[in-house]
Amino acid sequence: MTIELKKLTKRFGDLTAVDAIDLTVGEGEVLCLLGPSGCGKTTTLRMVAGLEWANDGDVILAGNRVNDIAPRDRNVAMSFQFYALYPSLTVAENLAYPLHAESMSKAEIDAKVAETAAVLQLEGILDRLPGQLAEGEKQRVAVGRSIIRDPNCFLFDEPLSRLDVQLREVMRGEIKSVLQGLSRPTVIVTHDQLEALTMADRIAVMRDGRIEQVDTPHTIFQKPANLFVAGFIGTPQMNLVPATFTEMSDATNARFAVEGGQTLSITVDPAAADLNQGDPVTLGIRPRNIDIVREQVEDGLSSVIDIVEPMGAETLAHMNDGKHDIRVVTDWQTPVEEGDTVHVRFQPGATHIFGQDGTAVRAS
Ligand code: ATP
Repeated sequence: MTIELKKLTKRFGDLTAVDAIDLTVGEGEVLCLLGPSGCGKTTTLRMVAGLEWANDGDVILAGNRVNDIAPRDRNVAMSFQFYALYPSLTVAENLAYPLHAESMSKAEIDAKVAETAAVLQLEGILDRLPGQLAEGEKQRVAVGRSIIRDPNCFLFDEPLSRLDVQLREVMRGEIKSVLQGLSRPTVIVTHDQLEALTMADRIAVMRDGRIEQVDTPHTIFQKPANLFVAGFIGTPQMNLVPATFTEMSDATNARFAVEGGQTLSITVDPAAADLNQGDPVTLGIRPRNIDIVREQVEDGLSSVIDIVEPMGAETLAHMNDGKHDIRVVTDWQTPVEEGDTVHVRFQPGATHIFGQDGTAVRAS
């Protein structure tokens, strides 16, 4: 079973909420649609479920085009949160609930409940009420209720948004392992990048109705395809510094003039060095990939720390040269204070270079 979206488009009046999206979600794959508010995530999900009609393009479920098929005949399980269990019903009754609409016999329902309980390891707690369950068990019951009808695919819209922070952490791992075992495609909508990075096999990053990049969480983080993805993924946010390429100082080091007058030297892959002198670029460096060094280094940056934000084990320091705010994460071994002048060096191989059109020239 797979979900395929081909040039899928949805317009609301003049607004193109989803703009010719192509996407395939494989069997047993968990794909997260991630992006800022209003980028078209929920609308995409609703078109898969049939709750919204597509203006153009195709929705293909398990090999069949379903654009003209009513939601209840698509056999998809869509839920808005994992948590809505009926408190006065037992686990078995909660699991059985979606089957009552299916005109099944009691024996058939019991068999389905037993089968689902076995998949989710709920056999020992079928007679308990939700109030008597651990949080992880509740979550598995809620997932069980989604899967009991044996749908073609699972669609979840911000499933963890109502949980408190600690519970979310537990649930992220739990959900991933359950969903991966089901050999059905799953799409999860979220605006929370941590949720996407931990739960997804692949992430589709959306902006303004389009998909900016689809890849594994690791690749999205390590090799963002463009400035939008670079700035959206990762906390603290990646530093994006406008600069101009000046020269290769040797076979593997490129020199850049940073706006404001300083120069930076960065190790690059010579095979990919297709920059020309004078090319305007944006250099991307994550705050954890900048080292504070004792002495001023040639081709590093220096400026004054104007804000220090303690983050527990680490500290986020803002360097401000009047032109840029460059964020640097330091540990307790490198204490910094507001007003200090610091010198920094970008760690080798950690700088991303984006061309004038915003796409990655390479991740060096
Ligand atoms: P959020 O995270 O805030 O839910 P989203 O990425 O899920 O955002 P959508 O809900 O898909 O975004 O909305 C995409 C765009 O389409 C938004 O600009 C929204 O205002 C608009 N939109 C959604 N539904 C309708 C509708 N029924 N009528 C008109 N405009 C709509």
